[in-house]
Amino acid sequence: PKNYLLIPGPTPVPQDVLLEMAREMVNHRGAEFASVLKTSTELLKKVFKTQNDVLILTASGTGGMEAAVANFFSQGDPVLVGICGVFGERFAKICKTYGLNIKTIECEPGKGVEPEVLEKTLKENPDIKGVFLTHNETSTGVTNDLKELAPIVKQNPERLLVVDAVSSLGAIDLPTDELKIDIVVTASQKALETPPGLAMVSVSELAWKYNEKANLPRFYFDLKQAKKFLEEGATPFTPAVSVVFALKKALENILTRGLEENFKRHKFLGRAVREAIKALGVTRLLADERWASDTVTPVVPPENVNPDELRKYIRNKFGVVLAGGQGSLKGKIFRIGHLGYVEPTDILVAISAIEVALENLGYKGLKGKGVQVAEEVFAEYY
Ligand code: PMP
Repeated sequence: PKNYLLIPGPTPVPQDVLLEMAREMVNHRGAEFASVLKTSTELLKKVFKTQNDVLILTASGTGGMEAAVANFFSQGDPVLVGICGVFGERFAKICKTYGLNIKTIECEPGKGVEPEVLEKTLKENPDIKGVFLTHNETSTGVTNDLKELAPIVKQNPERLLVVDAVSSLGAIDLPTDELKIDIVVTASQKALETPPGLAMVSVSELAWKYNEKANLPRFYFDLKQAKKFLEEGATPFTPAVSVVFALKKALENILTRGLEENFKRHKFLGRAVREAIKALGVTRLLADERWASDTVTPVVPPENVNPDELRKYIRNKFGVVLAGGQGSLKGKIFRIGHLGYVEPTDILVAISAIEVALENLGYKGLKGKGVQVAEEVFAEYY
């Protein structure tokens, strides 16, 4: 069947972006590539809503996370990591690997970081130099409210705030400068409608000050070197040239459409999916409504349904590709990704496929139930 990729990354890539990948190779230290890299960087700053430096690395998002640790801290530095799922855990693991002294705030699956808990933890640990938060925790479908959390971290203006926005930047508003976020990490293959291969990291003035004293080892991910090379429109090492071509096109598309319009579409996509899943009655949302993500929705299937079997069936019968659970949620949930180049029609297809699959498993009377509710939500959008 036709392919409907509805996982939270890699996400579908529009045809005009894909065609950029077919361009012939150029000298990555020549004028043509310099122009593409510089333009892409400037467009990225608009999406990050920042005047800070933004550096494009040839790596997956995790490479960007590693760079965010290795460039700004020193052995034994006390840091705080908010853990709402697999990706918060990953930040903690990277910090541990680099010998930082970590404290954690751990959230139940489906819940985000409570501002009161953050405030209390920071009061009790005034020596904390950096706070790591996941903007959108992809494994649990939780979006942390940074408009609430960032000012708490910045009650001490000298403390670094590091945010993983891999599965949100471009889809959910993240005003980097307004919130004084020092380091924001994202990647090409999620809301930015580009194939995998690039990580992007924004770096504030304060973060560069930390960089001068930071003694952790770094080589490939040396951001100071990346900044120096960018001045000449180049990168220290051979970049994923084709993905940079694609990124430029994708950013032009997004910004032409308008960032705010993008946020609005994702809000509707998220709401339609949640309302539809609730309307089915036999499935349950994992994430608490307060933190429910507009880019990914984890769903708890009916008790006797194995989510991975259900996904396989939906994939083979209808071509709709959904994601499984990760970490402790493996085998317990499935996830619907609705970020990037995803439109209301794609959601209607996915909900319809889920309805029919559950009907065929014996859950009668579901046909059209979720689709109808989703259509009602989308009627407000159009
Ligand atoms: N953080 C978040 C929130 C993510 O969703 C992901 C990817 N699923 C990552 C980090 C890691 O990115 P990558 O797989 O590109 O290394």
